[in-house]
Amino acid sequence: MIDPVEAAGYVRAAKSALDMIKAAKELIPKGKDKDAVAHKIEEAEQALKRADAKLAKELGYPLCECTFPPQIMLWKEKKRRFVCPNSACRSEKSRPATGPILVRPPRRSLRRVSSHEAD
Ligand SMILES: [Zn+2]
Repeated sequence: MIDPVEAAGYVRAAKSALDMIKAAKELIPKGKDKDAVAHKIEEAEQALKRADAKLAKELGYPLCECTFPPQIMLWKEKKRRFVCPNSACRSEKSRPATGPILVRPPRRSLRRVSSHEAD
């Protein structure tokens, strides 16, 4: 079982590394090399999206299958529903009756949970 806090940290780190690589790509003169680099960056982005979706699933977020990798549906408090972030889709889903119940911690106790209880 993955540690969700740790996994989220890795995904964030990978994202910022990718952003730096993207910025560096702009320094490469136009041509075959730049195209090859752009292609590799695109592949890395797709891999990262898949890792994100896997993490979201592990954490109990619903996934929308309108794209691949799937979109991670986020909870909208106003609607009291999960909403797909894809502007072309915007599917909604109510919170499932079963499955993990995620409770938002109070703002001042946003510290890391050191011990992780197994299911
Ligand atoms: Zn969707």
